[in-house]
Amino acid sequence: MKLENFTIKQINKGLKEKEFSAKELALAYFDKIKKTDNEIGAYLSLSETLAISQAEEADKEIALRLSSGQEFPILAGVPCGIKDNILVEGEKCTCASKMLENYVASYDAGCIKKLKKNGAVILGKTNLDEFAFGSSCENSAFKVTKNPHDLSCVSGGSSGGSAAAIASDQACFALGTDTGCSVRTPASFCGVVGLKTTYGSVSRSGVIASASSLDQVGPLTKNVEDAETIFNIISGKDIFDATSVEFKYEKLTKEKPFVIGVPREFFGKGLNKDVEKIIKKTISKIEDQGFKIQEISLPSTDFALACYYIIQTSEASANLARFDGIRYGYSEIQNISSKDFTLRDIYLKSRGKGFGAESKRRIMLGTYSLSSGYYDAYYKKAQEVRLLIKQDFIDSFKKVDLIMGPVTPFPAFKIGEKANDPLSMYLADIYTVPINLAGVPAMSLPIGKIGKLPVGLQIIANHFEESKIFNIASIIEKIV
Ligand code: GLN
Repeated sequence: MKLENFTIKQINKGLKEKEFSAKELALAYFDKIKKTDNEIGAYLSLSETLAISQAEEADKEIALRLSSGQEFPILAGVPCGIKDNILVEGEKCTCASKMLENYVASYDAGCIKKLKKNGAVILGKTNLDEFAFGSSCENSAFKVTKNPHDLSCVSGGSSGGSAAAIASDQACFALGTDTGCSVRTPASFCGVVGLKTTYGSVSRSGVIASASSLDQVGPLTKNVEDAETIFNIISGKDIFDATSVEFKYEKLTKEKPFVIGVPREFFGKGLNKDVEKIIKKTISKIEDQGFKIQEISLPSTDFALACYYIIQTSEASANLARFDGIRYGYSEIQNISSKDFTLRDIYLKSRGKGFGAESKRRIMLGTYSLSSGYYDAYYKKAQEVRLLIKQDFIDSFKKVDLIMGPVTPFPAFKIGEKANDPLSMYLADIYTVPINLAGVPAMSLPIGKIGKLPVGLQIIANHFEESKIFNIASIIEKIV
């Protein structure tokens, strides 16, 4: 079976016309994964038993519905990969950390419940930077996910496994999470569509927290239409996440005469010339389609990285406190002799061995920013700056419908190139973190390549205006 660029629509059609069954399709994907994933490293674990039983269920449901002339659920039999920080009941959820190496989820995340209800087939759990800390997928405790377009380059992070799985036809769609870049950067580096959803639009229940005021689940897909379908399914209020809201999605069916803002701060020094060229060329093609392009300013952009890395690390350090070597996760209790058995020993030894270097760095940075002598100077100041960044977007969206610019300052870089230089790694996030700080949605849409490496265009909308992103992205998709 040819899986190249298989979309949800094509799978629906194939199932309807009985070209293949859902079970045959799932087996074909597993076959593909087994042939290609040794090299790429997109998956951390495969859920074959679960997937086959879901596929058999889907086949029954499809047969039943077709026999009575009804439509079957849109995701019936559609195979997907799930980032390994999202709980799937009965499956391992490691967060790519030794701390959770043997942890098996006891319930489904809110978004997983919805995927299951719509018939999706879960093939397995995809790699990430440990606890979603990173931009390259090199911080996983288990493996580096390589870029399918160039195996010497990173896939992007932290949802690198999800993006690489889609780019290499190892799933039809995948879920990722985006705290500061993690759906969009890997989508851009791997040439797939990735959507960071409005904060509050998708439930975070059952998603292992990285930084709670920033984390959002989002789809990675082959095309814009699939991203819209998945967003439509996973969004909405969930009583298990108090920050989620009721969300009535309205599809925009006709092309709209949107005004597009291009922030001058997104084209400053540090932006790779070839990336700049591709982005500007695409924007001028959009202008040729009759859209009004307007230069705008997001004046607080310069402060966004510092602000993000204070807030992110503060929240992360608090969230990771639960991994104490006592309640669950990696524990050194059995290795500590009872004579010197103190609580401090358990904490130090378990956390010392369970967490990787980047997680420890975040815990130390965050704890420092939250400590009594420094709280006002760092955490409180960062919260004030966050308001300014949010205000930039509020002001801009009074003038324009959408904002466009690059996703990252450069295309995928070589594996190892930035691994020992955290500051230069953090700089990769310069155009993506303001979006999470403001809570607005943004997509990375593939628009071209530099050599072998794909480049994404970032399309940003106001809160809960994902429909505008889908509307224009599906136009751009056709002209690039
Ligand atoms: N690169 C950012 C970080 O390391 C964002 C990661 C993410 O979105 N999970 O925090």
